Amino acid sequence: MLFTSLGLSDPILKAIQETGYTKPTPIQAKAIPLVLEGKDVLAAAQTGTGKTAGFTLPLLERMVQAQKTQAKGKRQVKALILTPTRELAAQILENVQMYAKYLPYKSTVVFGGVNINKQINTLKQGVDILVATPGRLLDLASQKHVDLSKVEVLVLDEADRMLDMGFIHDMKKVVKLIPKKRQTLLFSATFSKEIKALAAGFQTNPSLVEVAAQNKTADRIDQLVHPVDKKRKKDLLVKLINDGQWKQVLVFTRTKHGANKLCEHLEQQGIKSAAIHGNKSQGARTKALANFKSNDVRVLVATDIAARGIDIDMLPHVVNFELPNVPEDYVHRIGRTGRAGREGEAVSLVCVDENDYLRGIERLISQKIKKEVVEGFEVDPSIKAEPINQGGGRGRRGGNQKPSGNRNNTNRNASSTDGEKKRSNSRNRNRKRSRNRQSSKEA
Ligand code: AMP
Repeated sequence: MLFTSLGLSDPILKAIQETGYTKPTPIQAKAIPLVLEGKDVLAAAQTGTGKTAGFTLPLLERMVQAQKTQAKGKRQVKALILTPTRELAAQILENVQMYAKYLPYKSTVVFGGVNINKQINTLKQGVDILVATPGRLLDLASQKHVDLSKVEVLVLDEADRMLDMGFIHDMKKVVKLIPKKRQTLLFSATFSKEIKALAAGFQTNPSLVEVAAQNKTADRIDQLVHPVDKKRKKDLLVKLINDGQWKQVLVFTRTKHGANKLCEHLEQQGIKSAAIHGNKSQGARTKALANFKSNDVRVLVATDIAARGIDIDMLPHVVNFELPNVPEDYVHRIGRTGRAGREGEAVSLVCVDENDYLRGIERLISQKIKKEVVEGFEVDPSIKAEPINQGGGRGRRGGNQKPSGNRNNTNRNASSTDGEKKRSNSRNRNRKRSRNRQSSKEA
């Protein structure tokens, strides 16, 4: 199939041509015609499948078609794209602007962690397409800086992640501000029970689209486990980077503190690195990401939430310096490499404390990951498993306990300012009350 057979207008086709994409990815081939027909779509697509273009291209096309019959007036938000994190929101806006390059629409992004006034000013000037995280959007709406009453298309991207992060009430509030008669596109990594319930509340008779088997890791990612003692992980990482002459590596740690410490160590070893996590200001995060993308920084050390939404073309190496305590996060993490069908390598450094996490991951992906001991880094069999420190000083879990695999047990608070902070605190309190809290993850 070619993009030209999808019924997209010339300005959109021209923009696609400039990106260098030759043909639609499977999610695009399936979703674009349905969205063009005006249907609600519930899509399960992994990260890296090209889902952003899967909803943005037809959304733009529908705006082009609608414009032909609508009278010209003040710009109003016609399309709203909700996403869980700031990084993802910024990334989506970049994509929207790239695909809409030859169209007259204005788009912008709003998220917390940065000054609200600039966003208010941009909104005042009129916007057609708005990308937003829920907290900041609600702040702006409650202060009457944004009017959502003319929204025709609502996209909930990474809806599973928004649920995990406790955004359900915010999502419901946002939906109340949008006309009932609308098109709703819901994207999630998987069709979980919770996602189906969400779809039932927000969508009308949605068409289901699924491109990869649930929870299967992308085929083209080579996965490898290096068993290693915890204390020797950082030396092994330095060796892998140096011996393999890796130029661009995304490394995941479980905690913010761990990310900082590892970053310092790599710098001491002469490897240019930057850390990206929730304690860093938005400016610092954006700078770190930009430097990493431009190859000024060789290693980006990230926690799960901070890394969500990172989209770097041809990212060749992902390293799990520590395994995630939530198996699904492994799939998300390694989805950062091998994007849109390219080849990639995901290496996990696994110490004895993490063997249960590894088993949980292998169960989820229904696959045994190849193990390879690196010479000189053989595991000391006398070291016994110890409880794993999840960071954050609370909710610690013993390493000998089974990973729950319950994504709702994690603290995925990515919001950090203004009303978002209050809301997220209350979300956290509610969640704490309502569940048997075991683990806490920070980003
Ligand atoms: P996404 O899943 O939307 O985050 O997209 C993952 C990556 O795939 C991004 O780097 C896109 O630029 C890229 N991409 C999207 N559509 C295509 C396509 N049809 N062909 C090749 N790459 C694509």
